[in-house]
Amino acid sequence: MNEIPNSIEARDRAYQMHPLVNLKAHETTGSLVIDRGEGVYVFDRDGKRYFEGLAGLWSVAVGFGEKRLAEAAKAQMEKLPYYHVFSHKTHGPSVDLAEKLIRLAPVPMSKVHFTSSGSEANDLVVKLCWYRSNALGKPEKKKIIGRVKGYHGVTIAAGSITGLARNHASFDLPIDRFLHTHCPDFDSLALPGESEAAFSKRMASELETLILEEGPQTVAAFFGEPVMGSGGVYVPPENYWQEIQAVLRKYDVLLVADEVITGFGRTGNMFGTETFGMQPDVMVVSKQIASSYMPIAAILMSDGFYRPIAEESDRLGVFGHGFTASGHPVATAVALENIRIIEERDLVGNCRARSPRFLAHLRELAAHPKVKVTRGIGLIGALELHPVGDVGRAGAAMAAAALEEGVIGRAVGDSFCLCPPLIITDSELDEMFALVAKALDRSDPAG
Ligand code: PMP
Repeated sequence: MNEIPNSIEARDRAYQMHPLVNLKAHETTGSLVIDRGEGVYVFDRDGKRYFEGLAGLWSVAVGFGEKRLAEAAKAQMEKLPYYHVFSHKTHGPSVDLAEKLIRLAPVPMSKVHFTSSGSEANDLVVKLCWYRSNALGKPEKKKIIGRVKGYHGVTIAAGSITGLARNHASFDLPIDRFLHTHCPDFDSLALPGESEAAFSKRMASELETLILEEGPQTVAAFFGEPVMGSGGVYVPPENYWQEIQAVLRKYDVLLVADEVITGFGRTGNMFGTETFGMQPDVMVVSKQIASSYMPIAAILMSDGFYRPIAEESDRLGVFGHGFTASGHPVATAVALENIRIIEERDLVGNCRARSPRFLAHLRELAAHPKVKVTRGIGLIGALELHPVGDVGRAGAAMAAAALEEGVIGRAVGDSFCLCPPLIITDSELDEMFALVAKALDRSDPAG
């Protein structure tokens, strides 16, 4: 499209600083303007249709253009567009959603606190871990362990738990007290002949070594995505979470399950915690909770996690924390309606039913000469390409070719990630993979 002065493209380049781009290059390359969406598709301003193979940012579970969510937002806007939950005030949608989450939680949870984003939620969980350790008279127990390639957001604490160089470099992250253990990338890190179960045992023993080196009395919590998402989609190998949890229990280290991507059906169960038999003390959810139609995240806490925090606020006289938009009525109303849709249409069941076809397509692509390995579970997966030149070149070329073919995915290093809306049908899955296969044939990292 020829750019006209004063066009959206020109004004975007002039005024907006974008995430996850080369900012300097962006000043000349600019953005693709997405104009509208419908089901699994989005359309640019020329009317070109794109298959949204990443459901926006791993999040638009019910697909684009869902009228019920627009209506829920409008109704709440008209009734009570805003109120807060500070200082003993509340409103119906925040209470309804908190109750719903407690009822849905796969392990006993006691309290919910809302934030507007996954980063804020993880940031706050770190603060709560520190507050809780002080409450328990263990002021030393403050260190947080994340994993290489783990993604938990970009604020100072959440960005420090994240284990990706691109989110650390030149930001002076991670800050002190944040440590990282290995990524459970079986395909790359397994020793010759090592079984998945043996690999998982070794990962757990590496974690134990780290905890012992640091001193167990200094380690408060371990954060993990049940399936790593933004770092490139790494599905834990057999027994991984069982082995990791045994170490955490042994040293009284809390487990925080970051379900921001896996929550609300992505792995074929409502939560990744169920898929992998996890027993977290805290769960963080966002994205699919409202299909990203509104910004909202939630922290679910067990009673054992919450109780010392309540005691400490009693001692201090107040819980000195709060976000203006915590439990925002429109965001909570939209999330409730979105969860209703997920339940009524059994989108978790749809994920389970479509998953074998999704994984079969991925396996088929694994035979392509440009593909090194594929990974996936439920309706989330990745193809990792053989590197060509610098790391990331093959992945970027693949994402560019995919866009030309009309499918949007996410390049992470040399992996190309897919995470389509949970409403996807078999024929739409076939269509998406046909486009991906064409893109793979034509992608040219040397070009
Ligand atoms: N945790 C996980 C697992 C995520 O995938 C993300 C976002 N990709 C976040 C946290 C951060 O969420 P947000 O972008 O809403 O801050």
